[in-house]
Amino acid sequence: MSSANVRVPAKINLCLGVGPVRDDGYHPLATVYQAVDLHDEVRATSRADGEIRVSVQSELDVRSEIAFVPEDDDNLAVRAARLLRERTGVPFGADLAIRKVIPVAGGMAGGSADAAASLVACNEAWGTGLSRAALEQLAAQLGSDVPFLLHGGNAIGGGRGETISPVLARGTYHWVFAMAHEGLSTAAVYAEFDRLNAGATVPDPVVPDALLAALRAGDAHALGGALSNDLTEAALSLRPELEDTLSIGIEAGALGAILSGSGPTALFLASDEQHGLDIAFALSSAAACADVVQSRGPVHGARLT
Ligand code: ATP
Repeated sequence: MSSANVRVPAKINLCLGVGPVRDDGYHPLATVYQAVDLHDEVRATSRADGEIRVSVQSELDVRSEIAFVPEDDDNLAVRAARLLRERTGVPFGADLAIRKVIPVAGGMAGGSADAAASLVACNEAWGTGLSRAALEQLAAQLGSDVPFLLHGGNAIGGGRGETISPVLARGTYHWVFAMAHEGLSTAAVYAEFDRLNAGATVPDPVVPDALLAALRAGDAHALGGALSNDLTEAALSLRPELEDTLSIGIEAGALGAILSGSGPTALFLASDEQHGLDIAFALSSAAACADVVQSRGPVHGARLT
């Protein structure tokens, strides 16, 4: 049976503007995504019997309930394979083997990354030959972050994040990620955002001009000052100890510090690798920090290896 292996990156949001909740329950977003060098891998091996099975191998601590990765039809990689099969009508099944490195429920879109990787891997293993554009359409049906994880690089995200458009950017950025002991539910953070903003007028979200200018110039100092995340207050309300993590990184000289997406992973921008090492060292003393990882971005999206 033929098989295919795909590497897929995590995402961070350099800015995350969140608008008022829509009638369909989603929030309009204005974000700039960056794909970063922290990868999951998904191997798809075609099965003649039509079954789709998944196994997850992880070097991470996935004990907490919210950080649990399902090994059944709820796994986003399985949902992606099913959608591709429906769309193409192939009779095959697949064994999907996921190697997880992206933190679970960490605000880095690990589940969406596995869905993107599964689309690319099954498309290859099944010989269905869908174009990138056709895969992107399926990706948008699977979740807000999935199209970007196919695409990679830097991109502006609109709609609920699934409408991506190119952004002019130069340079490579050095990041330090502080992983928390326990994941945060994205839904719980949005619910807290709505609770905190009840009765207030939430403006339509925009991507700050200063951030786009910093990316165009490849200016890490300017980018550090322009990082923003509208979910910060809600995430800190649920996890007050993350404030301490952010402060430690800023005191260690980070050019900028924000939570990644809905958190709880905190991200810090460094001027170079050595500076990143200094920040990582300081963060290793933060009580709320389970692990510290140095990374860089942008990197490309889901790719066959
Ligand atoms: P996002 O940033 O996209 O909001 P996240 O990075 O905070 O999400 P994920 O790691 O994508 O969170 O996991 C969210 C939930 O999705 C998990 O708690 C898990 O139960 C479920 N899930 C389903 N499939 C997967 C998968 N392949 N990997 C990780 N989680 C998965």
